[in-house]
Amino acid sequence: MTILSELQQLHHPLFTQHNVQVQVKRDDLIHPIISGNKWRKLKHNLIYVKQQPNFNGVLSFGGSYSNHIHALAFACYQQKLPCIGIIRGEERYASNYTLTWVKHWGMKLHFVDRKTYRRRHSSDYLMALQQQYPDYFIVPEGGSNEWATPGVAEVITELNQQAEFDTLITPVGSGGTLAGLICGDCKHSDKQHKLLGIAVLKGADYLTNEVKKLLSESARHHHNWQLLSNFHCGGYAKFSTKDTQRLLEFNQITGVKFEPVYSGKMVLALLDLLEQNHFAKGERIVLLHTGGMQGLGGMIERGILNADDWPVPLKASNE
Ligand SMILES: *Cc1c(COP(=O)(O)O)cnc(C)c1O
Repeated sequence: MTILSELQQLHHPLFTQHNVQVQVKRDDLIHPIISGNKWRKLKHNLIYVKQQPNFNGVLSFGGSYSNHIHALAFACYQQKLPCIGIIRGEERYASNYTLTWVKHWGMKLHFVDRKTYRRRHSSDYLMALQQQYPDYFIVPEGGSNEWATPGVAEVITELNQQAEFDTLITPVGSGGTLAGLICGDCKHSDKQHKLLGIAVLKGADYLTNEVKKLLSESARHHHNWQLLSNFHCGGYAKFSTKDTQRLLEFNQITGVKFEPVYSGKMVLALLDLLEQNHFAKGERIVLLHTGGMQGLGGMIERGILNADDWPVPLKASNE
């Protein structure tokens, strides 16, 4: 199997102090636009759509700064597949950083209010959408469905060729990525690892069940994983000035850029866990860098982050 992303050693005084080894799987570098776990999750979804003669496009859901919508729009543009995004929020978001790109790549946008958006998993709403768009394959929010897990499982196959390690850490939003990693890990009975998911949103204990729902039959018997729900820093896309300062400092020391919504919360959790002496002496830890750098564009645009500190991914396009 080809290896899509490199594994890189990280150096930080805290790692030496706590006697752990930390490496990072650079899925953020898989592709300049469709980065990280969204690439992995979309891969088999798009193969499936192209194989099914009755589907000629893809429809999915997301917030107005969604990494998934951004990745899907570009992937569909590249593969010449029509796509529709059902977006939570008002039409005025159509000119923000993320959606400007998404429209540029040809995705059609439908804005819905929060109440409608909340029905995105309900079967009657999905049936009505399917009737309205009969030849569109409907992918859930975040791309987390049964086609997502085999793509993410490939992370483990790659890692097993790249290094020996004890613990793999990933940020968790909808749970599809963690589920895929569990599916991948359970296939290698000789080389199993501890998998740690860091929930990036508040009140995330329900996600343990969401992860279980996405597991393959054999992966349901795999219990080497855990979802940690108290490292959300106040909620989804929330963080304090102190959090961003700690993260910027970490980025500077290690030379790898992590953003504060997903991968950075994993980093902050790692730092806290080290202070709590969570890891064994000599433990070999791998961080999965899930990408998400496009999200910085919208945060800089809204003044939540400072453009001098954070790299602007792609310049927004108004074409
Ligand atoms: C979507 C996303 C996640 C969360 O993945 P889930 O499969 O939804 O849990 C993590 N990191 C980044 C950068 C993401 O865009």
